[in-house]
Amino acid sequence: MTWRDLMCGQPRAEDVGRRLTLAGWAARRRDHGGLVFIDLRDHTGICQLVVNPERAPEAAEAAHAVRNEFVLKAEGELVPRAPEAVNPALPTGEVELQVDSLEIVSRSEPLPFQLDEDGVEELTRLRYRYLDLRRDRMQRNLRLGATVIAAIRRYMDSRGFLDVWTPLLTKATPEGARDFVVPVRLQPGKFFALPQSPQLFKQILMVAGFDRYYQIATCLRDEDLRADRQFEHRQLDVELAFPVREDVWDVIEGAVCASFEALEREPPQRPFRRLTWQEASDRYGSDKPDLRFGMEIEDATEVTRTSEFGVFSNAPAVRFIRVPQELSRSELDRLEALAKEWGAKGLAYLVYDEEGEVRSPIAKFLSVEELAAFRGEPASTVLFGADEPATVARVLGAVRLHLGRELGLIDPSRNEFLWVTDFPLFEWVEEEGRWNSEHHPFTGVRSGDEDLLETDPAKVVSQSYDLVWNGWELGSGSIRIHRQDVQERVFRVLGISDEEAQQRFGFLLEVMRMGAPPHGGFGFGVDRFLALLAGEPNIREVIAFPKAASGSEPMTGAPTPLPDGQLAELGVRVIVPSTAEPTSHT
Ligand code: ASP
Repeated sequence: MTWRDLMCGQPRAEDVGRRLTLAGWAARRRDHGGLVFIDLRDHTGICQLVVNPERAPEAAEAAHAVRNEFVLKAEGELVPRAPEAVNPALPTGEVELQVDSLEIVSRSEPLPFQLDEDGVEELTRLRYRYLDLRRDRMQRNLRLGATVIAAIRRYMDSRGFLDVWTPLLTKATPEGARDFVVPVRLQPGKFFALPQSPQLFKQILMVAGFDRYYQIATCLRDEDLRADRQFEHRQLDVELAFPVREDVWDVIEGAVCASFEALEREPPQRPFRRLTWQEASDRYGSDKPDLRFGMEIEDATEVTRTSEFGVFSNAPAVRFIRVPQELSRSELDRLEALAKEWGAKGLAYLVYDEEGEVRSPIAKFLSVEELAAFRGEPASTVLFGADEPATVARVLGAVRLHLGRELGLIDPSRNEFLWVTDFPLFEWVEEEGRWNSEHHPFTGVRSGDEDLLETDPAKVVSQSYDLVWNGWELGSGSIRIHRQDVQERVFRVLGISDEEAQQRFGFLLEVMRMGAPPHGGFGFGVDRFLALLAGEPNIREVIAFPKAASGSEPMTGAPTPLPDGQLAELGVRVIVPSTAEPTSHT
């Protein structure tokens, strides 16, 4: 016995006359006064079954009982369709299976939504994910993902990278998020942490002499979920020994281009563009700028030093963007509200009308030189930020992106890949009064900046880099610290005492004392990359079983409470937050 000779999307005119067995799902059934037509579907397409009660009375009886999404096996002869019944829109549209026997293999309850229904609530889709995954969009997305990941693996193998598995049950690897932890039955009171990335293991593999490592690694981070963030995500995790950063970029660019080629798309131009973090902030107000449109930020700090307009002359930085449109009063009000959300005190502007006449409450305070410096095209608007440089960058960056989208300035046919380099090593956390790593604590220091570690941490430039595609951060990496003394100094700046460093990272410091080669690598966010390749706005659309925005998994109902017995065995007692549901039951 065989379930199927061909897939549903395969029968063609050349197959006419063959006896075939087909199997699949009933996508649609139509009764035509005696004849019953069923669209039999699998992921390759649809084949029309015709059941004629005179030819096959038993099959016709079965056909009457068929409902949407029943699983069927049909056997019969492939025949040409009558000329008026040919469907040129279907690859199988010239033929149909004249059914002799029809078996209902499996039944289906009425579905909570139809597979071709638009606008189904996302929670419903996730609750019935197996049905959702049967739909064209999800079939396409997951297949695209598999194609890309296979291409990446082939590419990495061809470049001599070794796929090494690293543990899921491990010690905390700080990547800036909270850890998921796992209690250990054999050692009550102790916990494993799930890796935020395989960072330390891949570094240790370099010391161990495997000088080209990769893995499609699952990274787990306990942070709020967003369109581009899940608790779990996949990363093309890469590490090389003895690299300069261009070596790392070359490998990642190659993996990106191999992915495009696997999808038969034009790969992006190589080498990808590069901007330092400082340039990206100054010109685009962002460390992940969307380069598919211009509207760059320009500097006016010098020109306005002696301005009569106090807001300008007193501000540490004055910058502006030129918007190619004469914005209305209400549009300006909306933009000002947006600017304030990003920390601005206001949003000064100059509007040039069709005749080139300027309209602005601040024009009268500006000198001829200032006005000349800002002079815009007729029908344009100049928007200003005047504040601390970081605030101006943040505000104008947000306004630029908003207007780029709103005014349709973004060219969707462009693919702009960009390396952002030379990030600061530390960021100051105001609320906690301490330094934090901009990336992770193992990121290398720019050569020559080591002595600033103790004297001026704000000025230390790192050896890290991010990859950005059309304004999405695809991942980050760095040349690492490979010397124990430098690593210890960085820990100290981060407020990690020598004792704590020993306790948390003693193994790493030890490794660095036993012949650690220079090394560096990258963590490339596969799910974000796939979402962009699939043209999806959300990484949930390229993940088979994602969590909902609340962090739950609606199909299985996870997470769930544990029985008290199991908790006791683990040495865990649950403290129920007063506002939450109880998390334990007996
Ligand atoms: N471990 C880093 C991350 O997950 C990537 C890297 O530095 O290689 O972001």
